[in-house]
Amino acid sequence: MNTTEEFSKLNNPSHYQFESVDCYLCGEDDNEFLLVGEEDLTGKEGEFQYVTCKSCGLAYQNPRVAPEQIKDFYDSEYIAHRKKKDWGVLTPLYEKAMSKHDRDKDKLISKYVKLNSNSKVLDIGCAVGTFLLHLKDKYNCKISGVDFKDDLSFPRFNEIDFHCGLLYEQENIEENSYDLITMWHFLEHCYSPMESLKKARTLLNDGGKLIIEVPRLDSLSYKIFKEKWPGVQAPQHTVMFDKEHFVSMAEKAGFKVTKYLPYGAFPPYFYLFAGAYFKIFGKGMDLDKVLAPYFIGQLIMKPFLLFENKLNLAMQTIVCEKA
Ligand SMILES: [Zn+2]
Repeated sequence: MNTTEEFSKLNNPSHYQFESVDCYLCGEDDNEFLLVGEEDLTGKEGEFQYVTCKSCGLAYQNPRVAPEQIKDFYDSEYIAHRKKKDWGVLTPLYEKAMSKHDRDKDKLISKYVKLNSNSKVLDIGCAVGTFLLHLKDKYNCKISGVDFKDDLSFPRFNEIDFHCGLLYEQENIEENSYDLITMWHFLEHCYSPMESLKKARTLLNDGGKLIIEVPRLDSLSYKIFKEKWPGVQAPQHTVMFDKEHFVSMAEKAGFKVTKYLPYGAFPPYFYLFAGAYFKIFGKGMDLDKVLAPYFIGQLIMKPFLLFENKLNLAMQTIVCEKA
């Protein structure tokens, strides 16, 4: 049975539109079924098919949700865009976790790039821009961001040189000028990852670094949770990268990968917690209800998580230069 036939049996509301897509890495259209993913985080309707390219082995969503409709899946509940909210006694813990995430990104990039007041940084998929503002406060560097959603109401958003829309359609970002470009959990959402990488290459200056973090398919958490792995995150995730395909896509776009890390700045504990939740309770996670168990679980797992960077739990990061 081919993957088109299998897809036709899935349960999707009739107004969802899908389009078939060739492999993002090698361009071939021959593929085999991998898994069916659901909108586990928010619980929205739909069954989304992921396939493996028979030619190069890349795992990706096919057919994918039509570009005009994918924005509907990025509503205000989407965690990366989440605004300040009152979580009661847990509010300080939640805010601390969010600002820790920005500090962890900084810790990671500062091993490879020395930023100062002359540096220019571009964050692709910058959401409300807290990471960029953290860098500006610490290094006094110049900050730019791209996102297809704008959030002009967010505090200090006006301090960011912000460009709304898709990266590869941007025409007003200065080429050859950035010392650092970051993509934190952007590439696996992208409808044209190769074009985005090539565009990023034109914006980077000679000697500049591109640092990319994505979930890692050949990781322990995927082996445990399979189609309930939070890295599936259907239908927002268009591609699921293992180490081999992640590195080869960057190389094919004209980069030299100077460092590979089997971890990122994103907490792998979130994937362990959410994967277990989806497996036990199914899709639709009520953040208000899980916040307390989340922090308690994190405390219990602390001795294990001390070694998280060595255990290939869920994430991966590459540091790239122009080849
Ligand atoms: Zn392929």
